[in-house]
Amino acid sequence: MGTIDELLANNEAFAATAATGHLDVRPSRQLAIVTCMDCRLDIFGALGLQGGEAHVLRNAGGVVSDDMIRSLAVSQRRLGTRAVMLIHHTGCGMQSLTDDGFRAELQEATGVAPAFAIESFTDVEADVRQSLLRVRRSEFLPHRDQVRGFIYDVESHRLREIHVD
Ligand SMILES: [Zn+2]
Repeated sequence: MGTIDELLANNEAFAATAATGHLDVRPSRQLAIVTCMDCRLDIFGALGLQGGEAHVLRNAGGVVSDDMIRSLAVSQRRLGTRAVMLIHHTGCGMQSLTDDGFRAELQEATGVAPAFAIESFTDVEADVRQSLLRVRRSEFLPHRDQVRGFIYDVESHRLREIHVD
């Protein structure tokens, strides 16, 4: 049985026992979290969140890309969120590649250079600051007074806040 088949079986078991009922499409904590796709980050578990409470937006690196701003704009303007929590982490895969190197790899493999930015980084603190500034400067977002950034330590599971001077 393949992995996805196993997950379908898991879903059958989950659906048989999970509470049924209606959750509002609008996050009850009025919160959106932007974070990395890293498989070690259990965002709901680490923050004590339940379903229905927050949007969790993920990509490689937790990068505040144009598409992340798109999701945040929908989250704030249509679904009532006000606070934004950015969570980067130690040992990120995006620290193990370079923009030029990965771009060249993609071009060499396919003959086509990607139109998107790779957005690798070496200094995770600097990348959190960069991400904070991108959110705070985006006029597409009506709520920018509660934007905070953190680094999650994948060994200790603790969050450390990063401030923009
Ligand atoms: Zn990562």
